[in-house]
Parts: sequence; structure tokens; C-alpha cells
Amino acid sequence: MRFSIITDPNSILHQKAEAINPADLNTSKMKKLIVNMIETMYSADGVGLAAPQVGQSIQICVIAKEYSALGKSEDLVLINPVWQKKSILTAWDAEGCLSVPEYWGEVKRYKKIKVKALDINGQPIEFEAKDFPARVIQHEVDHLNGILFVEKARNIQKVEKV
Ligand code: ZN
Repeated sequence: MRFSIITDPNSILHQKAEAINPADLNTSKMKKLIVNMIETMYSADGVGLAAPQVGQSIQICVIAKEYSALGKSEDLVLINPVWQKKSILTAWDAEGCLSVPEYWGEVKRYKKIKVKALDINGQPIEFEAKDFPARVIQHEVDHLNGILFVEKARNIQKVEKV
């Protein structure tokens, strides 16, 4: 089932999402939510999606397997994710967001980060990500903290739909 994606302005996009109790991951409701988030992300041509974007203020995000830092065989599901920089190097690059349709802007992100999260089964995972996969994770974790990319972007442009 595809969710409709919440677009700005909406207060749920600006609040910190609740951490998830690992025991709650083992429910069919939660598993269904994650499957539906992945379906919604692909049907909207997104590379990542965070739960607040589908109306759930909880700390889950999904990232398309093409951009997963863990290899390209599976979509990446991160529960309660946090990250730290692994290098002081940063890069500006273009970003967009399904919740801010038609806008693009350049955002400065760390090039190399270390990520800690729980996986879909509630098991702790830890890994490094760099370049675009690191950018996607930083964008999605911002969503879980109530931050939209337009709040930190430069050269914001509106692209007309064709
Ligand atoms: Zn976004």
C-alpha cells in the first residue's frame, strides 16, 4: 500500500520523531509500515524516505538499495539511527525532497560518517558510509530530527513540473 507523502508546510515534518522500542519492531503493524514505506519511496522515485513523511513521528527511515551503504542487494532500513563524522571533509551537492516537491538546493554534508542504528529485527548495526550514501543518511536523519533540507540549503531553486 502506498502512503500519500506529507508535504511542507506540516508540523509533523518539523518535530523530533520518537525513538522506537525494539520490542515493538516485531509486530505485523510495524513490519507492514516498513514495507509500505519502501513501496511509497519507489513509487515516488525517491532514494530515501523517513516515517514522518508518511505521517508517523517515529524514528524509522528507509533507503533504496541502489544507495545503501551496505551493498546493493537490499533496501536499507534504519531504526533510531544516529551518525558521527569520520572525517572533517564536507561537500556541497544538490538535494531535493519528496516533502518539498519541485525545489532543489545545495546542501553541505559530511563526506564520510559512521552510523549506528537498529536493523529491522531490532539488532544493533554499525557501519561507515561515504559520499552519496552518506548524504542520503544525513538527509533522512535530519527528517527524524524535524529538519528539512531547505533549512540548510543554498541556491534554492524551484523547478517547474514538465
Ligand atoms: Zn527528504
